[in-house]
Amino acid sequence: MKLDILALGAHPDDVELGCGATLAKEIANGKKVGIIDLTRGELGTRGSAEKRDQEAAKAAEILGLAARENLKFADGFFVNDKEHQLEIIKMIRKYKPDVVLCNAIRDRHIDHGRGSKLVSDACFLSGLRRIETEIEGTQQDAWRPKQVYHYIQWENITPDFVVDVSGFIEKKVEAVLAYDSQFYDPKSTDPATAISNPTFLESVTYRAKDLGMLIGVEYAEGFTAERFVAVDKLDDLI
Ligand SMILES: [Zn+2]
Repeated sequence: MKLDILALGAHPDDVELGCGATLAKEIANGKKVGIIDLTRGELGTRGSAEKRDQEAAKAAEILGLAARENLKFADGFFVNDKEHQLEIIKMIRKYKPDVVLCNAIRDRHIDHGRGSKLVSDACFLSGLRRIETEIEGTQQDAWRPKQVYHYIQWENITPDFVVDVSGFIEKKVEAVLAYDSQFYDPKSTDPATAISNPTFLESVTYRAKDLGMLIGVEYAEGFTAERFVAVDKLDDLI
């Protein structure tokens, strides 16, 4: 199955938090979108890996994803080496995305920056035909995505471009709230975390509102690019 966009995140919920509205908009525009979670978030203070699996499946349904897989790397400890790169290369060659979205280049959680570089390196290596991979006994062809962009999540990184997501922020919040073990739940007895605070979700929508204000729309999500963002004509920009 070929996907138009493949978004990868170190933990289930990273993609929803970083670019959930952008994905909802692309899906509404007919694009085929998938998510690959690198870990099951098993070190998370709240909930459990099994609960996160269920939450991720629910969020996938809300967003209307064409595919979602989990590579089951070790939360907190996966490294950027050949073994891990090959697992991601297999996914890139399986889904042949034109655009890959991955974690922020640096962030509060140490897995985000590391995961970001790991995915970015794998996207390059995936284009080299002498790196041989196979999936379910079938040899895979080399595939390099046209673009690799990094969604902004916790740290307030200055974006290289922003996407107008007005009309899709509600869908993003709905997908994020599928992770009910992680966010504000007055009934939960799990310890409080930086994201279980009731103001956390407000900060997510506030940031989208702030970015939207800067480009004259209601809501926007920001990304950084690894090379210059190019346009065909000057009026391509909104
Ligand atoms: Zn994360």
